Amino acid sequence: MCQATNGPSRVVTKKHRKFFERHLQLLPSSHQGHDVNRMAIIFYSISGLSIFDVNVSAKYGDHLGWMRKHYIKTVLDDTENTAISGFVGSLVMNIPHATTINLPNTLFALLSMIMLRDYEYFETILDKRSLARFVSKCQRPDRGSFVSCLDYKTNCGSSVDSDDLRFCYIAVAILYICGCRSKEDFDEYIDTEKLLGYIMSQQCYNGAFGAHNEPHSGYTSCALSTLALLSSLEKLSDKFKEDTITWLLHRQVSSHGCMKFESELNASYDQSDDGGFQGRENKFADTCYAFWCLNSLHLLTKDWKMLCQTELVTNYLLDRTQKTLTGGFSKNDEEDADLYHSCLGSAALALIEGKFNGELCIPQEIFNDFSKRCCF
Ligand SMILES: [Zn+2]
Repeated sequence: MCQATNGPSRVVTKKHRKFFERHLQLLPSSHQGHDVNRMAIIFYSISGLSIFDVNVSAKYGDHLGWMRKHYIKTVLDDTENTAISGFVGSLVMNIPHATTINLPNTLFALLSMIMLRDYEYFETILDKRSLARFVSKCQRPDRGSFVSCLDYKTNCGSSVDSDDLRFCYIAVAILYICGCRSKEDFDEYIDTEKLLGYIMSQQCYNGAFGAHNEPHSGYTSCALSTLALLSSLEKLSDKFKEDTITWLLHRQVSSHGCMKFESELNASYDQSDDGGFQGRENKFADTCYAFWCLNSLHLLTKDWKMLCQTELVTNYLLDRTQKTLTGGFSKNDEEDADLYHSCLGSAALALIEGKFNGELCIPQEIFNDFSKRCCF
């Protein structure tokens, strides 16, 4: 990847592959405390390896049986039509008589299975109805938004769990993977209209999405990807779209050209951030926001590459946050590489290359193959 525009020498592909592989060698001791986050570690690693053209299904296909064991189906009321299913983050979380599946682990696991090309699993093993029923139970009837898990006593959406645009995105992405495409498909399981109402309520006055009218590029990417998966981007007004594009473009911090003025206004501007994206106004640039901002722009306009300075953000990622000795990407030029920023830094570069599906956060080729093979 990235060879056409950047030259092979600038992307330390072999080191990145090794970086992601190390995290899959079940697992470095520093992650033992994150056992419940194991599905996230697997997803970020497999996604990173796939971006760097590693044939993950050939290399890690032997682990499919182990992955499948994390899929749990529970009958709530002694009748099959009350069954729910989903993934636990770790086998130690499979506790009898307690619902420990949750939405994020379920999406991380499903996307990993897609990248491992376990099509047999999607066609014959995954019970899409009970999985969609679990998603449905996570929707808050009062607001239309989603929480990540069920209360282990009542099996209703947890009342102490936070609900925000991230979980709305995760819920809709799971249903999309289960085959939902039209509004009628989604309506079979969730109150789509109420969900759309919630998403619209998170629009900020000057464009973009966020809680309490504070625009945030992570929430913006979640909201736009959710609307794209629901085929509902046209529900946004032209003015809101334009304001959002403007807000996103101003998140790129740079001392060049038209962005110069913005950087002078930004008290947090740091010369080493040049070309990177910030997540909110007056913040330092951060690798992950390159992905969240570029994915948002890409969903809003086909001219996104002409509007923002992709060469500058590529330089920021390759010269500032890429770790040429250890592989991987860090949050900024001061930290060590971590898995989350390594995955999203790689994803941002792949998105610029036109090789990444930002809506589901997997390489485009894998998405195309899955869509062809598993049209439910
Ligand atoms: Zn970050």
